[in-house]
Formats: sequence, structure tokens, C-alpha cells
Amino acid sequence: MVVGRNRDAQLIIDEDAIYANIHSEKQRLADDSEMFMVVKANAYGHGAVQVAQIAKEAGATGFCVAILDEAIQLREAGFVSEPILVLGLTDLSDLPLIYKYDVSVTVSSADWIKQAAELGRQMHFTHKIKTFLALDTGMGRIGLQTPAEVTDYLQSLHVVKNQIEFQGVYTHFATADEVDDKYFDFQLQNFKDLMAAIPNKPRYVSVANSATSLWHHVTGANMIRYGVAGYGLNPSGTAIEAPFTLQPALSFTSELIYVKKVASGRSIGYGATYNVDKPQWVGTIPVGYADGVCRRMKGFKVLIDGNYCPIIGRVCMDQVMVRLPYEMKLGTKVTFVGTQAGKTITLQDVAEYCGTINYEIACGFSDRLPRVYYSKKN
Ligand SMILES: *Cc1c(COP(=O)(O)O)cnc(C)c1O
Repeated sequence: MVVGRNRDAQLIIDEDAIYANIHSEKQRLADDSEMFMVVKANAYGHGAVQVAQIAKEAGATGFCVAILDEAIQLREAGFVSEPILVLGLTDLSDLPLIYKYDVSVTVSSADWIKQAAELGRQMHFTHKIKTFLALDTGMGRIGLQTPAEVTDYLQSLHVVKNQIEFQGVYTHFATADEVDDKYFDFQLQNFKDLMAAIPNKPRYVSVANSATSLWHHVTGANMIRYGVAGYGLNPSGTAIEAPFTLQPALSFTSELIYVKKVASGRSIGYGATYNVDKPQWVGTIPVGYADGVCRRMKGFKVLIDGNYCPIIGRVCMDQVMVRLPYEMKLGTKVTFVGTQAGKTITLQDVAEYCGTINYEIACGFSDRLPRVYYSKKN
């Protein structure tokens, strides 16, 4: 999708906020613990390369991504030596790329390392393939589930240890963002049982996403996979308070590109669902669901000239209409997410209105919205 450089809408990313969110968490970690910044899905919509740079400056020593292409993007942008862990499973057919870009991949089966080692021999690889073993302690997604599977895996690994590096092991908690610790504790016990089957620990042992790192203490781990909180978003929504103030980094603004008075008897938008019962001022804003303004935002109030103004009628693909309290000038700034005249709309507000979580709203902003970065430091 083309980036809309020449349009009146943008995501504004506060680099200092991202830095602070990373730095604050880094300072809470034990001295021997590292942070890999999770920059998957274009850094939750914030821009992977830019965020990776800020994270590095703030103390992150590696990165996590979801798919191989995201890892390649970082390598090609100049992150040549940091470990980059692909959290999803990578197909064996991509082994030459894994090797070429020296990416760390998540592994979930002994078969994979056996076949990778064989392919590596055939292709005369001169360095090892770096792997993290996934342990499924109760997320039910990927990973080995029993100590017997782990033991079996380590035996296979031993055979291929000249081709395959056992760089790390990790698990993922399903309920670290909830008040009730019951299932978390169940997973933690499973983790301990699985780790007991690994006599020689690899370089990295990781249990924590943002929520686990913010709200749980797990001994024996030495790397966190820090995602959503780095962007200033609370992983629990509003259920649990973070141990330090998270600073939301993303604002979303546009402007009024058309303003008119609409007579009663007319309707607004597709389906004619909003009926004008008395003459009123209506503004048009040049963003829509193709930019990540969900259709569910019908009725949501955005900030214009310091007023909360409701989106009226259905959200179109590229435009939305709003009811204005009075005639406003063309070019008046519209804030969908962010602060205007001392009033703030958060991603969390949008997420709650749309019946989802802040993560989904953040990574739902499309490439068509340009990302604009600012920092008070330069
Ligand atoms: C996305 C992801 C993370 C980061 O989670 P946050 O809640 O954003 O901190 C960590 N680990 C895995 C395996 C993930 O998929």
C-alpha cells in the first residue's frame, strides 16, 4: 500500500515516550537480565525500524518479530549484529534466508532441527543455525508440552549440535495480564517441570512478555520479550495498574477538509443511517476504515477545536463525517487519538468503544497513514 505522504492525516510517534517506557522497565530488571524489544507487525503500527533504533538506545539488546520477513527488514536496515528472534514457526524452505541473515528461529519439534541440519550440510553452511526452543506450558499455541518431549528433543539436538545452536528457550503466559493468578501459576509449574528436563541451560531463558515482566517475578529467566508496554499501552487494558507511568507514544490526527450546513430531512453516509432532524454543521475528514478507523467507530467522539464531536453515519473507506457544534474553518485539526486542548483520547478508549484491545487498534493502522516521528531531544 502506498504511503500517503501528501495527505492531511498522520500518525505521530513520540520517540521520547517509547524510550521512557523501555528505559523504565529496563531499570526494573535484574542486572543479568536482557530485554528484546518486540517490533512485530511494524512495531505494533509504530514503525519497526524507528522503534528498533530507539529501543537499542534505551537498552534493548535484541529484537523479536513474528515472521522472517520482519527480521530481514531489520537486518537490511542496519541491525546486523543484534539477535533477532522470530516468534512464529519458520518453514524449512526458508532455511537459506535464516542462515544468510543469521536470524534466530523458534523451534517446536525435533524433526525440524534434524531436517535443518541435513539441509545445512547439503548447502555447506559455515555457521550454525540459531534456535530457540518453544515450551508450551499452557498457551496451547506452539511448543513442546511434556518433559519427555523435551528430553527427546535434546537427544536429537545433541546429534546435530555442529549445525544447530541451542541459543534459548522460552514460554508464553496466557493470563499474565489478569488479576487472577491461578492459571499463571499452573503454567509456571509446568515451566519448572519442563526446565528440569534441560540440564544444560542455553544462553537465553525467557518467560516474560510485557504483562509477565510488569506484574510477575519469575526466577531463572534472563531475557524479556517486551512489546506493548514499550509503546505505552497497558497489556491489561485498565484491569491492573502498571508499576510506572506508561506513556502512550502514538497520536492520530487529521483535519477538516470540508464543512457545510446540512438541512433537515437529509441523511449522512452509506445506508442513510444518520438522519438530520434539524439543520446542523457537518465536517468531513479524509480518513476511513482503509486507514484503520474501524467501522465500529460510528458514534465515537473525536476532538476538534477542543470539542468532542461524534462521527455520524457509517465510516466510509476513506472519509468520515462528524457533527460540529458550530461552523469551523477548513484545516481545523482533528484528533482521533492523542491530546488536544487538555483533553485526551487514548487508544484504550478507541479499543473499548470498538469492543477490542488496544493492541488490535494499534496494529490496525494501515501503511497509507504516514508515520511522523518527533523527539524533544533533537
Ligand atoms: C507478541 C509476543 C510477545 C510480546 O507481547 P506483549 O504483550 O506485547 O508484550 C512476547 N512473546 C510472544 C511469544 C509474542 O507472541
